[in-house]
Amino acid sequence: MGRLVLTNATVLDGVNGPAPGHSVVVDGDRIAEVRADAPAPEDGDQVVDLGGRTLMPGMFTCHFHATYHELGSRPNVPYGNDFPPSYQALVAAKNLRTALECGYTGVVGAGGANDVEPGVKRAIEDGLVPGPRFWPSGRELSTTGHANDAVPWHWGMQASGAVRLCDGADAFRLGVREEIKRGAEVIKLFVTGGHGTLAPKDRIEMTRDELAAAIETAHSRGVLIRAHLVNKPAIMMALELGIDIVDHCDEMDDEVVAALVETGAFVVPSLHFPKHFLELMGDGFGFGADAIRADLAHMYEAIPKAQAAGVKFVLGDDYGAIGFAHGLYGRELALYTEHAGVSPLEVIGWATRNGAELARRGHDLGTVEAGKLADLLVVDGDPATDVSVLVDKRPLTVLQGGEVVAGELPGGR
Ligand SMILES: [Zn+2]
Repeated sequence: MGRLVLTNATVLDGVNGPAPGHSVVVDGDRIAEVRADAPAPEDGDQVVDLGGRTLMPGMFTCHFHATYHELGSRPNVPYGNDFPPSYQALVAAKNLRTALECGYTGVVGAGGANDVEPGVKRAIEDGLVPGPRFWPSGRELSTTGHANDAVPWHWGMQASGAVRLCDGADAFRLGVREEIKRGAEVIKLFVTGGHGTLAPKDRIEMTRDELAAAIETAHSRGVLIRAHLVNKPAIMMALELGIDIVDHCDEMDDEVVAALVETGAFVVPSLHFPKHFLELMGDGFGFGADAIRADLAHMYEAIPKAQAAGVKFVLGDDYGAIGFAHGLYGRELALYTEHAGVSPLEVIGWATRNGAELARRGHDLGTVEAGKLADLLVVDGDPATDVSVLVDKRPLTVLQGGEVVAGELPGGR
């Protein structure tokens, strides 16, 4: 197969500002060359004039619940956890396809019901269904009676299919190993309440021994580990013990920022869902609209300082929760630029370079650079000055490994 030569592109490489008039040459599944002019055509080249449109790296969404399905919401079994695993696998395939079509060529799991995510990844890789590069998670691990343990004891079941209960360090070791055996590449822990759970945010629901055992076990098998962490003592403890990804991080202050920079852990602020929830419910719900407002205001102020200090942020949120559909991912870019003082270029860095680094694939994904895999988006407009071109709109073209996997190239190819 010949090369794909994309000419007259405004290249947004994931690091620098837009570079107009460039060409990107794709050979097989990789980027062969990025140059400031058009190369001499070779036999068999497919040359596509992008007409000045933006060419940027495929994006990553790094807090994803593939099985979350708003149709399944009922009391005590939210997020579609009441559907059978076969149905959940189809939901996961649909949601992952949606992410791909929205320009997210990398998706990192944050907890999936009944361990269906690894199987769906396999189906994507075998070409049964379209989908992004996927780092699947398994059931969330947490202690008995924790903030998300919503199954009444008299139902005679241990937990919903989305949760595995563990108590004691040995139980966490076994839990982590078993999720890895079932295919999880990312382990998810529930350490605190707060941020959308029914427990107060200052509650810590795992002991230090349990947390240390879980982190050490995941790392000994080369697997990423992440945790729902809201209050400062728990965040500091998890960072000290080597957590890879801090989900939410609501009580981020100077000391937390220093620890994040030192350890290199990634932060998923995931402010889109609480903001959405507040807008949806206003003051008409039982657990603290004012508290959510205060948490959002705190993070809007803390994020720019943390960004300046070198904290690595990524995108991702609880899509598929109540009234919060999969496919709205792009609104996060607008949220952080409009409310949290982050520049469009910075938040695009979160979505591309930082996402690839989180997935430990920074060497071959996340930027437009010769030698990297050709996961690329063609976008109308200039996201470096106006991220709204990535909000509620699908890219014109999504390329993965040099192939068009969603949309089409300008000129209809
Ligand atoms: Zn979540």
